[in-house]
Amino acid sequence: MAADYKGFSTRAIHAGEEADTRPGSPGDVVVPIHLSTTFIWDKPGVAHSKFEYIRTDNPTRHAYETKLAALEDARYAIAFASGLAAEHALMQAIFRPGDHVIGFDDLYGGTRRLFDEIIDGLEVSYVDLGVEGEFERAFRPNTKVLWIESPTNPMIKICDIAALAAKAHQRGILVVADNTFLSPYFQQPLKLGADVIIHSSTKYIGGHSDVLGGALLTNDETLYEKLKSIQNNCGAVLSPFDSYLNIRGLKTLAVRMERHQSNALEIARFLSGHPRVTKVLYPGLPDHPGHDIIKRQATGFGGMLSFEIEGSLTDAEEFLSRLKLFSLAESLGGVESLIELPALMTHVGLEEQTRRAIGISDTLFRVSVGIEDVEDLIADLKNALG
Ligand SMILES: *Cc1c(COP(=O)(O)O)cnc(C)c1O
Repeated sequence: MAADYKGFSTRAIHAGEEADTRPGSPGDVVVPIHLSTTFIWDKPGVAHSKFEYIRTDNPTRHAYETKLAALEDARYAIAFASGLAAEHALMQAIFRPGDHVIGFDDLYGGTRRLFDEIIDGLEVSYVDLGVEGEFERAFRPNTKVLWIESPTNPMIKICDIAALAAKAHQRGILVVADNTFLSPYFQQPLKLGADVIIHSSTKYIGGHSDVLGGALLTNDETLYEKLKSIQNNCGAVLSPFDSYLNIRGLKTLAVRMERHQSNALEIARFLSGHPRVTKVLYPGLPDHPGHDIIKRQATGFGGMLSFEIEGSLTDAEEFLSRLKLFSLAESLGGVESLIELPALMTHVGLEEQTRRAIGISDTLFRVSVGIEDVEDLIADLKNALG
């Protein structure tokens, strides 16, 4: 089905959603929100359709999974109640006590909490995978998984997914890639060698800051069956309404991502030229250390950037209080621009030493650039920087 459509937007709009033209059907063009928790059987032992009970499968969720799989060119997609529920199910499937995982040092904080506090008996090494040789140095006989994101946040680090996947596979370990930040529109990690993709669809896929969701994608049938069984037995499924919102989000993903990116690039250039700004982290800038790698492995740079201003925490707070358009909030990927201070917000849970080692100072901001008019966004930043 997915292969029938070539272009990304055509797949985003049509895959998984063929109009129902069977006799007697109203002929919905858009997949409806199916709320029925149970489905009729023709007789004992013979279900009427492939649907039996809502936790196991649901038509709206199924349509969303089909669409998402088409966009990542994956054989299988499973939609979860949140990104972290998806990650937890994956960890249940792939880790045994005593296993070792190598993670990017700037991984999503919730992923680090699952590794450090929730999954028992896991050994974890956090290393800067943007640096040549770090993966090899961290590798141990009990290493089972390489867990990456590219770009990361808030340090917007890039790693070479294909090169790392090749090294990991030489050693017989699994490669997990969180593709939340670039979305399938800009990057498709399965094609670069990853074995599993994670999405927090709460971000760009939903795209409007109004739905929580997560997903896992893979081409591995055995792993898929295991994940599906864990999900069915534990129950962290995406609801029909949330599935519908994610379907709706995917349809405009391409146009939104283009606009997020062009706005982010202009803002990054503006900030780079501002005397109060000491650092701008955006992989679309030619001087970003990961610029050449991201150009090779992705078709865009995304809408997330970080920057640092001179001064102290007080200066950072004063700057934030002067902004009118950028909302001070965590999360990302919605149509509205958000800004946050990782040291006191998303990354406050890290020990100060870890935060410093990663490079998170008291005046480092993370920005989720929205799709407003960029002139207005730049005027707001200019005014607040003074
Ligand atoms: C938000 C996020 C998650 C967690 O997803 P939730 O939907 O909030 O559970 C995981 N990875 C990344 C990169 C994220 O940004």
